[in-house]
Amino acid sequence: MKKYFITGGAGFIGSHLVDRLLKEGNQVVVYDNLVSGKKENIEHHFGQKGFQFINADLLDMNALKTAMASSQIVWHLGANTDIPTGNKVTDLDLNNCTVASRNVLEAMRENKIDKMLFSSSACVYGDAPPVALSETYGPLLPINLYGAGKLACEGLISSYCHLFGIQAWIFRFANVVGDRMGHGVIYDFIHKLKKNPKELEIFGDGKQEKPFFLVEDCIDGMLCGFQKSTSQFDIYNLGIESYTVVDRIAEIVIDEMGLKNVKFKYTGGKRGWPGDVPIVHFNVAKIKKLGWQAKHSSNEAVRIAAKRLVEENK
Ligand code: NAD
Repeated sequence: MKKYFITGGAGFIGSHLVDRLLKEGNQVVVYDNLVSGKKENIEHHFGQKGFQFINADLLDMNALKTAMASSQIVWHLGANTDIPTGNKVTDLDLNNCTVASRNVLEAMRENKIDKMLFSSSACVYGDAPPVALSETYGPLLPINLYGAGKLACEGLISSYCHLFGIQAWIFRFANVVGDRMGHGVIYDFIHKLKKNPKELEIFGDGKQEKPFFLVEDCIDGMLCGFQKSTSQFDIYNLGIESYTVVDRIAEIVIDEMGLKNVKFKYTGGKRGWPGDVPIVHFNVAKIKKLGWQAKHSSNEAVRIAAKRLVEENK
C-alpha cells in the first residue's frame, strides 16, 4: 500500500486513476480546484477510508506544501486543458501548467518526496512532419501555449531530478478518451448535435488525423512504465499507432446518437483552430518494450468513448 498525491484527481483521467489506485488498496489524496474537474467524478469515494479530497489551487504554495505532507508519490495531472482558450489568455498555461508544476516540484522537495509521474502531451512535438513520432524526435517546437507549457514542465522536472534526486516518469499522451471526458472533439460533437441534430460544425476541413486511446489503457500504460522503468528520468509516448480522421469521428458520434442526414459544416483550413496540429502519428515502441499496448484501435476507442459519453449525457 502506498500513499499517492494526485493533482487534477477530480478531472477526467485523474478520477479514473483514483478509482484504480483505491481499488488496489492504496491511499489517495486528491488536490484539485475543480476548474475543469468535477466533484461528481470522485464523490463516490467521499467518506471512504484512505481517501481525501482537498479543494485548492496549485498556485497556492502554502496549501500545496501542507496538503502534500506524508504522501509518498506525486501523480501530477492538474493543468489547464482548454487549449484554444490558453492561446487567447496567454498566461493561462504559464500559470496553470508551468508555474503550477514548479510549485509541485518545490513542495515535493520540501516534503522530501522523490517520485513523480507527469502527464505531458503530444503537443510538445509541435507541427512535426507526418511520421510516427518517437520520444527522440527533435527539436521540440510546440505551436500552442499548452504544448509550450508542457515542454517547460518537462525541462523543470528533468532539472529537479538532476539537482534534487527526484525520480520522474513523463508520459506524452495522445488523445485520451472515455467516460467523464469534459473536453475534446467527441465531447464537442455530442454537445453540438444535442443543440442542433440537423447540422454539425466541424473545425477545419475534417481531414485531421490523430491517435485516440481509452482512459483505462492510459492508466494501465502509466502503471506499466512506473512499475517497470527504473531510470531516474524517462519519457514515454503513450497512445497508439493507428489514428482516426475527424470526419470519421463525426460519423461515429452521429451513429451512436442514432441521428441521420446530418449536414457537415466546415469552418475550413487544415487546422481546427490556431495552434492545432492537423496530423499526429505516434510511435509507441518504447512503452511496448516494457510490455504495454493499447487494447483497442483508435477507431474502436472513439466508438467506445462516444457510446459511453452519449449514455452519460442523456
Ligand atoms: P481535466 O481538465 O479533466 O483534468 C485536469 C484537472 O486539473 C481538472 O480536474 C482541473 O480542475 C485540475 N486543475 C487545473 N488547474 C488547476 C489548478 N491551478 N489547481 C488545481 N487543480 C487544477 O483533463 P484531463 O483530460 O483529465 O487531463 C489530465 C492531464 O492529462 C492534464 O495534465 C492534461 O494536460 C493531460 N493530457 C490529457 C490529454 C487528453 O487527451 N485528455 C492528452 C494529453 C495530456
